[in-house]
Amino acid sequence: MKMQDQIKKENPCLVDTHAHLNFFDYDKDRQETIKRSLEKGIWIINVGTNFQSSQKASAIAEDNSKGVFAAIGLHPTNIDYKKFSLFSQKGQRKPESFLEEDFDDEKYETLTKNKKIAAIGEIGLDYFYKPENPEDIDDYKAKQKEIFEKQLNFSQKKGLPVIIHCRGAHNEMLGILEERKAKGFQQKGVIHCFNGTFAQAERYLQLGLFIGINGIIFKMDLEKTINKIPMDRIVLETDCPFLTPPMAGFKRNEPAFLSHIAEKTAAIKGFSLQEISKITTANAHQLFNIK
Ligand SMILES: [Zn+2]
Repeated sequence: MKMQDQIKKENPCLVDTHAHLNFFDYDKDRQETIKRSLEKGIWIINVGTNFQSSQKASAIAEDNSKGVFAAIGLHPTNIDYKKFSLFSQKGQRKPESFLEEDFDDEKYETLTKNKKIAAIGEIGLDYFYKPENPEDIDDYKAKQKEIFEKQLNFSQKKGLPVIIHCRGAHNEMLGILEERKAKGFQQKGVIHCFNGTFAQAERYLQLGLFIGINGIIFKMDLEKTINKIPMDRIVLETDCPFLTPPMAGFKRNEPAFLSHIAEKTAAIKGFSLQEISKITTANAHQLFNIK
């Protein structure tokens, strides 16, 4: 191996801290997609959303010797609530998925034997999809909170950071995390796909959390907020197959497109692309302890 290739392998240019190559969208070309990313020096953390996809993320990490890691967890919209279908505010039905009634820590514990599990996630709160019957909403929110807290405890027990999903629930999320901090829990983690206000970002920063930036920056006006977030708290992500950067065209997103997020972040922060790559990669290594 040439020395330059060696350096590229040892020092990744970027880390996609939130990808879903474990999803069926990549069943036909998963390995080629991973290769395209690693050839660009982009490392990948594939994130689970239920037991089945967590298992898959773990297996993909094991199959790839370097640069591919996994997170395991139960996403709030994969909670089986009274066997009800969940509907978005626009009335669209949530896509079919593998639902779980509760977070079974013993089951997830079996996956943590894999040394490439870098985090517990994605976990959190999602108020976008709701049960059909409005009378169930409060109870449903309480169930989400309970399962989220179980997984926060699990992350503490395993000494792993968390990847937090929060949709339409920043104030409730901050309430939960601030209450736990007051009780003495020091939570390591990232708020993935951050789209809140700077006041909310400030409270997450106070809690010691990182902020995950992805293609949502091309859809929403977040420049002023991102500009004020300190560089040592930013990590980059694609959230692929979702949120494709517009310059990559109307197609499925993938980790190789992370460079577009890095370029846009560099432009917003007034840093060079090299500086952004170096700092966000160091942040990802520190948070997820990946090597
Ligand atoms: Zn995700």
